[in-house]
Amino acid sequence: MSTPKTRTNFIREIINEDLKTNKYKGRVHTRFPPEPNGYLHIGHAKSICLNFSIAADYRGLCNLRFDDTNPETESIEYVESIKGDVRWLGFDWEDRLFFASDYFEQLYKYAVELIKKGKAYVCDLTMDQIREYRGTLTEPGKESPYRNRPAEENMDLFERMRTGEFEEGSRVLRAKIDMAHPNILMRDPTLYRIRRKKHYRTGDTWCIYPTYDFTHCLSDSIEGITHSICTLEFENNRPLYDWILAELEVHHPQQIEFARLNFSHTIMSKRKLMELVEEGQVSGWDDPRMPTLSGLRRRGYTPQSIRNFCEVIGVAKANSIIDIVVLENSIREELNKTVPRVMAVLRPLKVVLVNYPEDKEEGLDAINNPEDPGMGTRKVPFSRVLYIERDDFREEPPKKFFRLAPGREVRLRYAYFITCVDVVKDEKTGEVVELHCTYDPATRGGGAPDGRRVKSTMHWVSAKHAIEAEVRLYDHLFTKRDPFEVEEGADYKSNLNPNSLEVLPSCKMEPSLKNAVPESRYQFERLGYFCVDTVDSSAEKLVFIRTVSLRDPWAKISKASDK
Ligand code: ATP
Ligand code: MG
Repeated sequence: MSTPKTRTNFIREIINEDLKTNKYKGRVHTRFPPEPNGYLHIGHAKSICLNFSIAADYRGLCNLRFDDTNPETESIEYVESIKGDVRWLGFDWEDRLFFASDYFEQLYKYAVELIKKGKAYVCDLTMDQIREYRGTLTEPGKESPYRNRPAEENMDLFERMRTGEFEEGSRVLRAKIDMAHPNILMRDPTLYRIRRKKHYRTGDTWCIYPTYDFTHCLSDSIEGITHSICTLEFENNRPLYDWILAELEVHHPQQIEFARLNFSHTIMSKRKLMELVEEGQVSGWDDPRMPTLSGLRRRGYTPQSIRNFCEVIGVAKANSIIDIVVLENSIREELNKTVPRVMAVLRPLKVVLVNYPEDKEEGLDAINNPEDPGMGTRKVPFSRVLYIERDDFREEPPKKFFRLAPGREVRLRYAYFITCVDVVKDEKTGEVVELHCTYDPATRGGGAPDGRRVKSTMHWVSAKHAIEAEVRLYDHLFTKRDPFEVEEGADYKSNLNPNSLEVLPSCKMEPSLKNAVPESRYQFERLGYFCVDTVDSSAEKLVFIRTVSLRDPWAKISKASDK
């Protein structure tokens, strides 16, 4: 698999140091630990790339572990989609697929050990009371009246919690640390709670579930992880991570935090993405506007472009917002070199070449990709009636508009120079419905023997040979760079972009696209990069999705073509 050249970063520096001091006997073992409560997004890709590529570069290992301790929100559907996404990105966990829920029995034993050591106790305070007793950032907490229960009583109660004797919410198991600790997370945090919910893997076996903090560090420890890489929000959890492992005297991975990926013009919380799906704001988790990996895949992003992107943005200690353009450039750069260029007209305007013979047709040579001569050439059929882009004609052209206008000559790509001689309008609406043009047979292939120049080159499709297709143009999901910047009383959904999807139902494509199969990618000349939709496209009705537009179509084209 080709991966971009890796830059060093502060995580790699920590690992280098650990290797020098032989901290983990030369081992490097990481993991990617998603909770199966939604689909993965581009932020997770950053974590996946980081964990798997560190393992690969240090000849270490990386596990895929599902942190599935919350029976309310998790499901096998999410597990399968996550596995598919990680594989699609190009990473392989080999035989190291793990589930925190497989450790429930072991975790229970660890909890018992803490109780026996006097380091955990069963607390009967209600949730509200626990919160009240916790104190604030400026005030210490208060000790629970149940804090000094003897170990035997705690053992007995904890066992009975497990057997289901108590109501949900009536008791929890808490670590006995320090109610005056400056870090609130260390003020006797909850380790176990009662939840009478079926778990998607363990069913009704358990009615007590370990908390994330208790499970996470111990799962890392059980798997022999050396470097437990997580996002910055968990910096405050690290003392608890370390406390649990130290008290239990078990293998102790090093937790390292890095800044999560934040993006402009989108959101990256699974819960909010789920909201958009459930409210029908998008067509599903794989809607091409979604920042999910399934959405980006359907949009036409390649695994390579996402891996490159993750490498380019690097790893930092401080949070920042990456502009979505950086991701778009990553796919542009790749597709520019790898996909064939074809001609497609999205908003067709009919052109009749009045001096071109009625029945004549010819095949003109077109270059498949000027960036890669190895991709060869193809014949594009040309005939008397063509379609051009409606935007490429103006009856009254403004100053810098160099495309077609009455009396003006332009070049049709790979074909001829044409001059507009007449404009046909709908009698009722005044809308331009057809152009009459003449062509100059001497300019075949796009150059004039007399050396005369034109200022514009336009794409076109022969009407007789065109195939019809639907094209979907996507724009940012949110109009604001920061979707959470809202007026008082409104929520982020008020910033949804009402024009994020435009459907063009009858576009005209050159006939070489007839056999385009789902996922095939093209550059539509002058328009952008497009792929055949994997969901809605069929042999009867082709549907193309715009992955991304060209950066600056006009500047480039007019320079390149006006030779
Ligand atoms: P949510 O998206 O609802 O906030 P989450 O991101 O915590 O949930 P997890 O399934 O717990 O979802 O994430 C799995 C791993 O991916 C974690 O190690 C987490 O740190 C990492 N991760 C999640 N979001 C990002 C992000 N935006 N950038 C980098 N890493 C991330
Ligand atoms: Mg999480």
